[in-house]
Order: sequence, then structure tokens, then C-alpha cells
Amino acid sequence: MVGPGPLPPLQTSPAGLEPWVGNGWSVEVLFSEAGLSTTILVHRHSDGGWLLLDCGPGVTRDLIDRQVWLPSLLGVVLTHGHADHMGGLFALLSLLRLSGRRPPLPLFYPTDCREVDATVQLVRSVYGGSLPFVIEEHVLDPGARCTIGGITIDAIAALHRGTRVAEDGRTTEGVRLNALSLSLRHGGQKVVYGGDSAPHDGLRAIVAGADLALLEATFPTAVPHAFEVHSTLPEAHALAATAKDSRLIHRIERPRPW
Ligand SMILES: [Zn+2]
Repeated sequence: MVGPGPLPPLQTSPAGLEPWVGNGWSVEVLFSEAGLSTTILVHRHSDGGWLLLDCGPGVTRDLIDRQVWLPSLLGVVLTHGHADHMGGLFALLSLLRLSGRRPPLPLFYPTDCREVDATVQLVRSVYGGSLPFVIEEHVLDPGARCTIGGITIDAIAALHRGTRVAEDGRTTEGVRLNALSLSLRHGGQKVVYGGDSAPHDGLRAIVAGADLALLEATFPTAVPHAFEVHSTLPEAHALAATAKDSRLIHRIERPRPW
């Protein structure tokens, strides 16, 4: 039945991506594939309040497929401006408008995130006065903390470089981004979402002993010319072994047609 409150149990989920159920909260990977989309749902059991960690393309389809009650959205946290992590923001804000949302929507993201700035400006420009809710933009930079619906979120710096396309068409690593890894606390438990990050000591420190670690494992093996961009599957496995439970996400599941 669609309505506010707890989500019904999932009948099926991809192998290795089963929902994590904690003390009074749950975490589900709604979708995650490198370069395409990553969206994480964090769900509070007491009243069905939920928040999103990143909102990649397809987020609205994924939320409706899961029959998540839209009015109970508490806030959105974005780790960085790459399209596969925030490319669904325009569609999400548009769907919230369509649903008649009234409460302000807290939106947390790091500085220098031009993609998100531009998307919010686009929504305001297109919908103007017909947007029935306020988009509350909050800076969340490494070292900062925010609280959404009783869930405390600490941000640390991720080790993530952008991509450059060289004149010969090859891609190589670009500048380091102001990207985030997130550590969430609720009900005496800790959940870590690494975002996009190569392994580094800061990430190792917050993953160690976590009740759940969501870790990207983009590359099957090390990739030349992709230094400090992503983790490899063996690196992600090694990191995950230090947490109590884990999901390896943001992998390349299908061949790329180019
Ligand atoms: Zn990225």
C-alpha cells in the first residue's frame, strides 16, 4: 500500500545489494553503476522519513518503482558534481513540484559544485514562482557536519579526480575535486558512504568498524592514467573487510558501446 510509514520489504534485489536494516533505520542502494547513476536511500523506521545520498539520473523512476512516499523526503546530500551522482536533481525537484510539496527541501553539497548550483538556478529560472517549496541550499564541506531527521552526517574529503579528455581522445585524470565521503550515525550505529574515492587513510579511518560501508569498486583492476580517481575491486574488498557489513557499488556492470 502506498502511503507514509515504513517501506514494504523488497521482494528481490540484485545479488550483493540487499538492503541493510539497522536499529530504527535502513539503507538501500536504489541504483548504482559507474558513469550512469548512483542513488542511496536512507530510511527512518519510526515515521517513514527518508533522505537521499546522491541522486543520479533515473532517481525519480527508482523512487516510484520502490513506491517511496515522496512527502516524507527529509533532505538530499550530494557528494560531488559528477552527473552520475547528481544528474537526477532537476527531475527530482520537478517531481517534488508536481507532487505539491510545501516544506522546504534541505540540499547539502560541497562548495565548487557548479553542476548543482547551475541545476538549482535552472529550476528556479524555469519554474519561478510556481515552485511551491523552498530549496534550502547548505554548504557541506570536508570536516563539516549536518543533521537530517536525527541522522548525523559527517563529511570528510574523498580522494577523487575528474576526467580530462586529451587531444588524442584518450581520457586521463584531471584535477582533484572537492568531493565528499559521508559518515552517518543513528541508533548507535554508523554507516559510511564513500562516494567516489580512491583509498586513502581518511576513508580507511571512518570505514574501520562501521556497521555498514557502501564502497565504490569502479575498476576491476588498476587502470593506467586513472590515478586517484576511483577504487579497484580488490581495493574495495580490502577496505570492506574492515567494516562489519558492506556493499560494493558503482561498478561497471555492462560493456560501454564506444
Ligand atoms: Zn565522480
